[in-house]
Amino acid sequence: MRKIEDKRDKNRTFKKDSSFLKAEENVFDVPTLKLLYTLANKGYITEMGGSISTGKEANVFYATGNEGEVAVKIYRLTSGTFKAMDPYILKDPRFSNIRHSRKDIVFAWTQKEAQNLLRIRKAGVRAPRPIVNDRNVLVMEFMGKDKIPFPLLKDTPLDDADAQNLFDQIIEGMRRLYVRAHLVHSDLSEYNILVDVEKMEAVIIDVGQAVTLDHPNVREFMARDIENILRFFKKYGIKEDKKIISDRVKER
Ligand code: ATP
Ligand code: MN
Repeated sequence: MRKIEDKRDKNRTFKKDSSFLKAEENVFDVPTLKLLYTLANKGYITEMGGSISTGKEANVFYATGNEGEVAVKIYRLTSGTFKAMDPYILKDPRFSNIRHSRKDIVFAWTQKEAQNLLRIRKAGVRAPRPIVNDRNVLVMEFMGKDKIPFPLLKDTPLDDADAQNLFDQIIEGMRRLYVRAHLVHSDLSEYNILVDVEKMEAVIIDVGQAVTLDHPNVREFMARDIENILRFFKKYGIKEDKKIISDRVKER
């Protein structure tokens, strides 16, 4: 990593011997690298940091930009399981007129994730603020402090009182999502919730697959989200009924 002071020196954000290019030269295609250069030239990224996560479809990197610490989520165009995206996006009325090539689905998916983040935040649920998105790259607020991302819920040590507090926040978050944003997360679990341990606050992430309430499978997606949350919190002595929670999530 290297700080960039001189504007003419911008390309060194990704200088040849940087850990970013070394580790990733085989991962990203040329158009994606060019897009990252463009975002660097616009100041959204001034220094690319290390990898936070390598998922099935996307890589997430730490970076700094004009807005401070950011997370850069890069959906891979060349590998992954994008068939898995079809049931979420093909029936979403907001994306009914996209062409269905793999690239188009990835671009629409990235766009949808940025839109969903905005909607979720407007509904009063804590989630990363989207800063810029273009094609397969989403730059968003870094949820963490001093280069350290907040831990996943699944990796956060909790006493029973913390667990109850987070459980209540998550159910209230689902309710706001449903009632105010008209969205269901559809991949909610201890893997897509971060915990700001200092404030003991839940942060919702990974919202590319969140669907609007007019999606034909919305009931099934919501039931699954609730089951995941109930399963996770069972070990902290939280035993609630699926139906009661489902009613609570829909309560206006
Ligand atoms: P997919 O597998 O569907 O491509 P993913 O699971 O790889 O998605 P995310 O869940 O969005 O993608 O992110 C992967 C990991 O990166 C998260 O578990 C989290 O640790 C980290 N992360 C994601 N977004 C942020 C953020 N805004 N700030 C800090 N860390 C983040
Ligand atoms: Mn995830």
